[in-house]
Amino acid sequence: MSEALFELPEAYRALQEQAQALARAVRPFSARADEADHIDPDMRAQLAASGLTDLVVPAAYGGRHEKVDALAVTVVREALAAESAHLDSLFAMQGIGSYGLGVGGAERVKAEWLPKVATLGAIAGLALTEPQVGSDLRNLATTVETDGDHVVVTGHKSFITNGGDADFYLVLGRQGDGFTLVLVPAGAPGFSASNPHQIIAPHVLGDLHLDGVRLPADHVVGPPGKGFSLVLATLATFRVSVAGAAVGLAQAALDEALRHTAGREQFGVPVARLGPVPSMLATSWVEIEMARSLAYRAAAAASRDPLAALNLSSMAKVGATEAAGRVVDRAVQVMGRFGLVRGGLIERLYRGARPMRIYEGSTEVILDSLAKQLLKGLQS
Ligand SMILES: Cc1cc2nc3c(=O)[nH]c(=O)nc-3n(C[C@H](O)[C@H](O)[C@H](O)COP(=O)(O)OP(=O)(O)OC[C@H]3O[C@@H](n4cnc5c(N)ncnc54)[C@H](O)[C@@H]3O)c2cc1C
Repeated sequence: MSEALFELPEAYRALQEQAQALARAVRPFSARADEADHIDPDMRAQLAASGLTDLVVPAAYGGRHEKVDALAVTVVREALAAESAHLDSLFAMQGIGSYGLGVGGAERVKAEWLPKVATLGAIAGLALTEPQVGSDLRNLATTVETDGDHVVVTGHKSFITNGGDADFYLVLGRQGDGFTLVLVPAGAPGFSASNPHQIIAPHVLGDLHLDGVRLPADHVVGPPGKGFSLVLATLATFRVSVAGAAVGLAQAALDEALRHTAGREQFGVPVARLGPVPSMLATSWVEIEMARSLAYRAAAAASRDPLAALNLSSMAKVGATEAAGRVVDRAVQVMGRFGLVRGGLIERLYRGARPMRIYEGSTEVILDSLAKQLLKGLQS
């Protein structure tokens, strides 16, 4: 059987090495950046210098590939998340916050923003969530109204990655019976941001206040009323990359647990050989390899046809993020009190694993959707 079925092709291995080199370069300050609630300037400079953000923009606007390649993004996130959640988020959000623009934006607006996204000269954000609306996006209260040759956006977005630090946001709002995506520059009159929330795994998070923000009509992204299809297209390309990040994080936790338990003796033997500890370590290894296999397979399918691969991408996201939660929990357990020390690597990974099961489609919402499709398959 062809080796290519089971191994990353050479081009992706080269990319993996490039991302691993970046991860090593930020090691001296990654712990500091992972505690930050604003973008760390050193992290931004290192990511910009690596050139990796050109992966998330189409070639016509300064990107590396003709269109965004989900497998490339997944492989890079695996390497970055193993070192720093802050770095991983900064990389991924450039794509998540600009993908809709690349697919449906007006030529002038694409030409203005996308080349800057590719070089990290501008920071992107995607604003869906509101104080009262999370999973149930069809209940959004933000409105988009046409006013001559302008549109007016009014509402409050909450828990937005890069909120307050981004240069523009793709904002989803209700327009008549549909939902419209609008590019809102951070400098637009009527726009302001605040940072009311911080979470257990610090993250660049902000709320956006849109007080009648009036923009030229070409800031509408895609056809008016059809914003959800661009959000879906974004998810179809990027959801699987969360699986890559979860695999990277889980691998880092296993490596740390292995180092600790192999080096520490109790009862005259390394902890790694005591009681259930060997099987806990091996179980984590098995789960990581399973998650990685599905992540790469789903990402390769998403690279060919993102929408057709969405079920597989969703399975990879749930499988890998849930596995990362178990792996990191076992890692803390086998390290005993040393797993609990504040500021240690394992504590950072433990906290970092938790949000992954909630954002970009919570586990329950994804499983509910997959279950509905299973049952539909039975009926047809
Ligand atoms: C670190 C972080 C970064 C984020 N970044 C962004 C961002 O950049 N842009 C943005 O728009 N949003 C962002 N969010 C918000 C995120 O998208 C929401 O948290 C997510 O959509 C879930 O919504 P919620 O938290 O309101 O939970 P709720 O929707 O209130 O859900 C609560 C619980 O109910 C369950 N549940 C809900 N509906 C169902 C259902 N139909 N079936 C079964 N169970 C269900 C959920 O699984 C969950 O366990 C971010 C969140 C975090 C934590």
